[in-house]
Amino acid sequence: RVGPYRFAGKVVKGFQRGSKQLGWPTANLDPAAFEKQLDASTEGVYIGWASIADPTLPEEARAVHKAILSIGWNPQFENKERTVEAYITHDFQGRDFYDAQMNLLVCAFIRPQAKFESFQHLIDAITADVEFGRNALDTPELVELRADGLFGAAA
Ligand code: ADP
Ligand code: MG
Repeated sequence: RVGPYRFAGKVVKGFQRGSKQLGWPTANLDPAAFEKQLDASTEGVYIGWASIADPTLPEEARAVHKAILSIGWNPQFENKERTVEAYITHDFQGRDFYDAQMNLLVCAFIRPQAKFESFQHLIDAITADVEFGRNALDTPELVELRADGLFGAAA
């Protein structure tokens, strides 16, 4: 368990390096929403709850969903820029929601960041993280956090 940390900010564009094609799109949070809050050493894979407040999305899409998050330094920016990105366990039917407001509640740490030998190893690791995260978020201690005030009426 950590925090929980509460973040709210816009969904921004990342590198679009194919995470969608790999099956695990990650909604990247606007750095302005976390850079003052997060300790410089915070990195890793976390699980928590997320909602996307976009009035043009169907109601079920705007609900609070399980999320698997990566917090880490981006080598592309010479490790100067950190990203907070979330795979949300909901099928958005191919719809993007860039610029929408994302609420993120970071609840538990699951593993440190790692370098992988190949793309396939990375995909396998994320697949395992998502499966683990879905189950872990069903435990009463973490289910309880879903009702956090961060989500307002969406919870
Ligand atoms: P980027 O590099 O711009 O973050 P990604 O390939 O990681 O691109 O795709 C992320 C985008 O896909 C999100 O910003 C969002 O608009 C969309 N998206 C669709 N479904 C999901 C989902 N289940 N979880 C996260 N993002 C999703
Ligand atoms: Mg992304």
